[in-house]
Amino acid sequence: MIKTFRRFLTFLTCAGLLSIGFLYGCFQRDSSRPTSYLEQWMQDNGKIKVLSTTAIIDDIVRQVGGDRIDHISLICGEIDPHSYELVKGDDEKLSAAQVIFYNGLGLEHGASLRYQLEHHANAISVGQSIQERSPDQIIYDGGQLDPHIWMDIELWSIIIDPILQSLKELDPAGSAIFEENADRLRQAMLHEHQEIKSDFQQVPAERRYLVTSHDAFNYFTRSYLRSPDETEQAQWSKRFEAPEGLAPDGQLSTTDIQKIIEHLCEYQIEVVFSESNVSKDSLKKIVHACRQKGLEVRISNKVLYGDAMGSSDSGADTYLKMIRQNADAMISAWKYEGRTQ
Ligand SMILES: [Zn+2]
Repeated sequence: MIKTFRRFLTFLTCAGLLSIGFLYGCFQRDSSRPTSYLEQWMQDNGKIKVLSTTAIIDDIVRQVGGDRIDHISLICGEIDPHSYELVKGDDEKLSAAQVIFYNGLGLEHGASLRYQLEHHANAISVGQSIQERSPDQIIYDGGQLDPHIWMDIELWSIIIDPILQSLKELDPAGSAIFEENADRLRQAMLHEHQEIKSDFQQVPAERRYLVTSHDAFNYFTRSYLRSPDETEQAQWSKRFEAPEGLAPDGQLSTTDIQKIIEHLCEYQIEVVFSESNVSKDSLKKIVHACRQKGLEVRISNKVLYGDAMGSSDSGADTYLKMIRQNADAMISAWKYEGRTQ
């Protein structure tokens, strides 16, 4: 029932986004674009037409392609990419795209979208590129492949290469510009990766324990929260727990709640984080159950961005800003807010 309601809400959100011409979410980052950007994207103006499934991929594509490409993302705003199904107008975008970049690794598992991605001649899984380059860096959670690879900036920077390669093939005359853009972006990403790493080292290791709504932060935990001696997954994985698994579904059993409460007690965790595109209901149930047991646990007033970037006024409307906001939200909660015990 909850699942059906959530899907209905997702449909309403998506329909709303479509009806306002995708002004918000998909195209929010460039106010100079005309309102008919989608129409322009469809027109033959000599620019490469690039479609990415998520805005997180689209942001990397935008920075590599610059002015020589027209780019849009399929999944707009704060819609869950795990279960996204095609809506009216998506077929046209998929047909018009000269190249499609998608996450893969099981992220886009809505049947209608997955079918299109598997049958499109020019659909490239950026996740697969990472898996081929660095197979030992891919995380399996309970035996299941974890698709949230963007949560490690250094790992995510690998996707610049397949994007660069593809754009160069489609527009050889732009090769030098693409290369230059890619180099600049790679440096910015690797710099931010190190900055965030060192910022977290300022937080005592015993406070770096993250609890969110769903399992989107395994890669983040391994890169930024673990202590240097925690090299094995069995060691660092204790620093991250979430009630809803790899794909948020709103289903929570009493056992799930109990498991999180035990985790909160064991590591003396007093603050949990909601995610911008996932219902807070699961976390509210956990906090309520904690209070009944006399445990003081609260939900942070700063949300994390797991599967979707934020709106333009959130300050998390680019990939790097999104990861930085996540880091700052955790650091301020752990470093500057005193514990009650
Ligand atoms: Zn997710």
